[in-house]
Amino acid sequence: GTDNGDAKKYTVGVDTTYPPFEFQEDGEMKGIDIDLINAIAEDQGFEIEIEAMDFSGIIPAMQAGQLDIGMGGMSITEKRKETVDFSDPYFESGLSLVVAKDNSDITSIGDLKGKTIAVKKGTTGANYATENKEEYGYEIIQVNDSTSMFQEVANGSAAALLEDYPVIQYAIAKSDLDLKVAGDKLNGDNYGISVLKGENDELLKKINDGLANLKENGNYDEIISKYLGE
Ligand code: GLN
Repeated sequence: GTDNGDAKKYTVGVDTTYPPFEFQEDGEMKGIDIDLINAIAEDQGFEIEIEAMDFSGIIPAMQAGQLDIGMGGMSITEKRKETVDFSDPYFESGLSLVVAKDNSDITSIGDLKGKTIAVKKGTTGANYATENKEEYGYEIIQVNDSTSMFQEVANGSAAALLEDYPVIQYAIAKSDLDLKVAGDKLNGDNYGISVLKGENDELLKKINDGLANLKENGNYDEIISKYLGE
């Protein structure tokens, strides 16, 4: 972070588009991640600047010293804990398999033999697809963002995709995507706010204290219901 007089300013990396967590509307970045980090910053007396980028670029940008904080609906994983420290969890998530609305052949990942699955680079979905490729016998297409992933299925280049269930449920409810969730959730995880490992204890403490205060004073619930309803 840079020191501009009184308040420290931290740069926060988020995904390019990941509604309801981050998205552009009326030329502005909105969403749960954006509101949360703004509220935490206000509570803890620091300033932030948001930078949207491909999700796969967030941790590398932190390692390169270009970002102080990583968000983007980022799941807390053991693998990532090798390079970043996570805040306390702030949102429950996990993966769903998604297919075209009119597809009745694919009801589970076991139905993907010889077919293609689209995933977003650097995500838990990409990791899940790679780990299970051998067992289920599908091909993988890796793209940079959720919009491209949805397009791969819409235009028939892929038979299915993997997306976090809060994100796909929101996308299906809010837009006229011809997609549906197939079968049960594949796993469960939690989103956390990340900082570069081992070097940011002070910032991480502020983030955790801010998060705890927002949960305590009702601001956290307000932010969630602003985007997701009661
Ligand atoms: N939660 C998933 C992950 O951490 C997906 C995040 C995203 O696509 N922005 O990999």
